Amino acid sequence: MFYCRALLILALFSALPPGRAAVVFEFDYSAGHEFLDPAAGAVRRSALESAAASLGAIFAHDATIQLAVTSSNDPQGDLLASASSEQPEIPFDFFGYSPGIVQQKILQGIDANGAAADGAVDVNFGQPWDFGDQVSPNLFDFKATMIHEILHAVGFSSSIFEDGADGFGTPPGEPGVWSPFDEFIAGPTGVSLIDDNYALNGPGWASASTGGASPRAGLTFNGPNAMAANGGQPVGLYSPRQWDEGSSGSHLDDDNPALAGMLMLAATDTGPNTRELSAIEKAMLEDVGYTLASTATPANATLTIRQMGSTIKLTIEGNRGTYAVARSTDLNNWVPLTTLTISQNGGSTSYDVPFNTTTNRAGYFSATQQ
Ligand SMILES: [Zn+2]
Repeated sequence: MFYCRALLILALFSALPPGRAAVVFEFDYSAGHEFLDPAAGAVRRSALESAAASLGAIFAHDATIQLAVTSSNDPQGDLLASASSEQPEIPFDFFGYSPGIVQQKILQGIDANGAAADGAVDVNFGQPWDFGDQVSPNLFDFKATMIHEILHAVGFSSSIFEDGADGFGTPPGEPGVWSPFDEFIAGPTGVSLIDDNYALNGPGWASASTGGASPRAGLTFNGPNAMAANGGQPVGLYSPRQWDEGSSGSHLDDDNPALAGMLMLAATDTGPNTRELSAIEKAMLEDVGYTLASTATPANATLTIRQMGSTIKLTIEGNRGTYAVARSTDLNNWVPLTTLTISQNGGSTSYDVPFNTTTNRAGYFSATQQ
């Protein structure tokens, strides 16, 4: 190793490859007659698996989730599809927030029900589906619907019944057992409806659960990440004036125009639908415990190094992410300098390092995406 008198700076940009962790969904079609149809089954299975794979890729967790598939062919029924998680056995003396089998397996690596399926998916093929990516205006977007439904199984779901009871019939005011999502269920001003003793505020629930449109009324979600993604405000949840079993409380608020077009609204219409989670929906998943894969693309970030008098300016430009900056004199031993964050794709961030004009030695710098 040598340094010449002229400034010698080697810019190294080493970025970790994108995280390979993902949640993998496997499907048991043995009870899904319409998925096994000799003519149409392959396209249906392929569309479900493709949708599930795209959802699984957003998680920075390694898990394989088995979902038992059922199906029907009921043109008169208003059900499109549904998905759910199995629930673990709850000790008699447990009160608090209990993840479903799917969420517990992803977050803790525990398969509480062993070989049994972790959750279920049900599809009504009597509805007009479009299984492709160019969705006809008259057909339902199958892939978007599957992503929406599997998100419910993953934990985007309230467990509070219309009367404020939990799944064991515990009435408001007494300690109950709730889904992790329910920790953040709040009234219109963002005040939590379940207290530190896991008891639901009965009058607050009665008023907010059928309170109508947010942000003035109805239920909200007050998780810290979700609020940060929503301009500091709690996120409106679907709270129609007539309780809608299975929809109320477990969706974003269809009656709030600010949330229009998002994936986790309660109602869906024919035609193409978004298949991406909004920043708010991702933040809600983070609030219920998930770590999401970074969306930054390392190849799209660069480190530039510029000497300006007695200062070396390090600049990282590119995709959103957190970067650890280190310095070395020999390319073997690296000393951490700082951590820099780019808050949005296409942004940049800089850091100044003193330059020793006596030795003219700068050394080497690296930035590694975390
Ligand atoms: Zn839904």
